[in-house]
Amino acid sequence: MTHKDILKAAGFSDAELSGGSLAVHSPIDGSEVARVAETKPADMPAIIAKSQAAFRKWRQVPAPRRGELVRLLGEELRKSKDELGAVVTLEAGKIVSEGLGEVQEMIDICDFATGLSRQLYGLTIASERPGHRMMETWHPLGPCGVISAFNFPVAVWSWNAALALVCGDPVIWKPSEKSPLTALATMKIMQRALERFGDDAPEGLVQVVIGGAEVGDALVSSPDVPIISATGSTRMGSTVGPKVMARWGRPILELGGNNAMIVAPSADLDMAVRAIVFSAVGTAGQRCTSLRRIIVHSSIREKLVGMLAKAYATLPIGDPREEKTLVGPLIDNAARQRMLAALEKAKAEGATVHGGKAVDAGVPEGGAYVEPAIVEMPSQTEIVRTETFAPILYVLGYETIEEAIDIQNDVPQGLSSCIFTLNMREAEFFLSHSGSDCGIANVNIGPSGAEIGGAFGGEKETGGGRESGSDAWRGYMRRQTNTINYSDQLPLAQGVKFDV
Ligand code: NAD
Repeated sequence: MTHKDILKAAGFSDAELSGGSLAVHSPIDGSEVARVAETKPADMPAIIAKSQAAFRKWRQVPAPRRGELVRLLGEELRKSKDELGAVVTLEAGKIVSEGLGEVQEMIDICDFATGLSRQLYGLTIASERPGHRMMETWHPLGPCGVISAFNFPVAVWSWNAALALVCGDPVIWKPSEKSPLTALATMKIMQRALERFGDDAPEGLVQVVIGGAEVGDALVSSPDVPIISATGSTRMGSTVGPKVMARWGRPILELGGNNAMIVAPSADLDMAVRAIVFSAVGTAGQRCTSLRRIIVHSSIREKLVGMLAKAYATLPIGDPREEKTLVGPLIDNAARQRMLAALEKAKAEGATVHGGKAVDAGVPEGGAYVEPAIVEMPSQTEIVRTETFAPILYVLGYETIEEAIDIQNDVPQGLSSCIFTLNMREAEFFLSHSGSDCGIANVNIGPSGAEIGGAFGGEKETGGGRESGSDAWRGYMRRQTNTINYSDQLPLAQGVKFDV
């Protein structure tokens, strides 16, 4: 299929793909595939006002009925999985199976949120006063601005939107300026769900705005958008977070990671190698949870590096649309330059680099293809502590488990982590309060590829936000504590006397 056929199958007309000011390039071959219209910053107040008006209606709709809209979205996504997955491959360069996997993740969160719409439960709390009852009630909070990154161009929106919608909050989505087409294709699918749902869904319930930081900033700065869920670099989060806080909004920040695996002497090395290769080179190392550091016991370091070098040598790099490909392109040439520069810096800091060259032969011309790199480091230097969004895997050694955990935690980011060990003491220590300081900590699986059932997010410079499963829904609602007096007395708490 040509680029045009893929976009046509996703429902785009020629007019939608031309004449706009935002050029969209495919990382597959660097070609321009569309020019889409951008939202003018001057139009943002009206868009936000529409969302506020939608909020006043949507919060009145019973939550299970709101869940029905999300159920329909899941149905429509199932029908359009192949078409949307193909746009993800075209625009983000993911291999076909990962493009489809991303849409599956959207379907999964819709299923989760539909069930959640019949829960949204609060606690009942014992009161110290006779004839009193205490409880917690959860209420819709208001419009939720979703700012997303290029590397999960649709799944991140759905993690937020599915929860926000059942929680009673309208959604305004600003996708990455590098991936507007996947967002527009998703909105077509959303539109079909809205049409089937009928009149209970107010106009402006789900909107998309297209553009860069300036359009995002209109959401970030508006007191009428109480929730800002922003996914992207730590640099972006350090601007967005304080701005939202300064106007008393609620930021949900999902920022960069620097994810590690500890490989202990007892590890099942065959399994570890498979987990390492998937999580270090999958999505060409462009997942927030990509494996970036291996901390391996010195007794098995040489053996593991040998096994990895062998596995890396067979990796099929190339056009992500081809079935055999496992490593597609980086998002653009600037990303490739950043990877090559990071490898030079690592060398200056004492590294031995295996692989990591630009690949121009046997791949589509114009794309930024690279060999994934294995980089043996003498210690955790500055470049290792920096997230480079590319398939670079640093290898560090350790002697004791305490030392391994210290190395693992000694980076500014705190998203995902894992240990490969068959030693129960080590595994439990790693998961304990003295162990990994990350939002995600796994045993005998890699750091990437999370399921939607758990809360997703991380600590430190990763931003502290949680999305997706577990009780992450609470981030999209306001908590109200209620005390009800069903007696004919008015006792005060803490035994205070105030007789009038
Ligand atoms: P990016 O920070 O360049 O852009 C992300 C989004 O923020 C884009 O939509 C962009 O337009 C917007 N933006 C940038 N500056 C802004 C501002 N001042 N105000 C409002 N909006 C602004 O990130 P990217 O290159 O698209 O994505 C890669 C990064 O995202 C990596 O660091 C990766 O780790 C991170 N990421 C994190 C998670 C997570 O869940 N923790 C998930 C995916 C990606």
